[in-house]
Amino acid sequence: MTINLEGQVALVTGGSRGIGRAISVRLAEQGAFVYVNYRSGEEAAKETVAACQAAGGDGQALGFDVGSSESVDEAVAQIKSEKGKIDILVNNAGISKDGLFIRMKDEDWHTTLNINLNGSFYVARAAAKLMMKARTGTIINISSVVGEMGNAGQAPYVSSKAGLIGLTKSLARELASRGITVNAITPGFIETDMTAALDEKLQEEHLKAIPLSRYGKPEEIAGAVSFLASPDAKYITGQVLGVNGGMYM
Ligand code: NDP
Repeated sequence: MTINLEGQVALVTGGSRGIGRAISVRLAEQGAFVYVNYRSGEEAAKETVAACQAAGGDGQALGFDVGSSESVDEAVAQIKSEKGKIDILVNNAGISKDGLFIRMKDEDWHTTLNINLNGSFYVARAAAKLMMKARTGTIINISSVVGEMGNAGQAPYVSSKAGLIGLTKSLARELASRGITVNAITPGFIETDMTAALDEKLQEEHLKAIPLSRYGKPEEIAGAVSFLASPDAKYITGQVLGVNGGMYM
């Protein structure tokens, strides 16, 4: 499948590493100009931009905290003044503060919800204003398989990712009349810094639960994102696309 995103402007939150980097490079390779967001990893974001250029595309690093609505609005205003539009928004930035629910600190609960769910809301709201004027655009939210299944020891993360599915469906209904599609992708376990941080025993347990018997690769999430961003997916909205090796059916 050849996907042509020539002339489109994309914003990928958390594009500096892992899944976000693979998404940025894929969209750039297919012709989009990609704003690669990061919070603290400026060098890593610049490496992603270099990888976008090496793939024949282009992009720019853009630092802001998705959990701050003021910073989000400023960043989107900058994109508006530089490019005048956002065609593709990928809400990918996310963190996980794991631990037993009963001992979970308020701060860890709030921080996780704020970055993963509030952050996606702030960026979607700001970007949708530009998309509504253009009467076109697509928003792709990176949720998680555990947002569909639940997971012991990850109550804040799971709640944020389940919330993101609700946000996806509500925005899909609200923005459809303006020609904007909104979908979620629920990755299973993907090889990144986030999964490398899990202890070995837990990683072995995970593999047993995956019918395809392996972790996914960031590029496999990037492939799903680029399909949803492509003209072939114009009639798909409000959907949750599982990319999880069969872990949840
Ligand atoms: P990583 O931990 O490798 O990268 C996280 C990215 O998010 C980094 O670029 C980081 O930037 C950015 N980020 C974190 N907080 C903020 C913030 N407040 N504002 C802006 N950017 C921020 O994660 P993954 O690549 O593994 O995961 C990407 C997404 O996919 C996440 O939403 C995650 O929940 C989801 N996912 C991942 C799975 C996996 O197995 N890896 C499975 C299911 C879902 P910086 O370094 O600058 O802080």
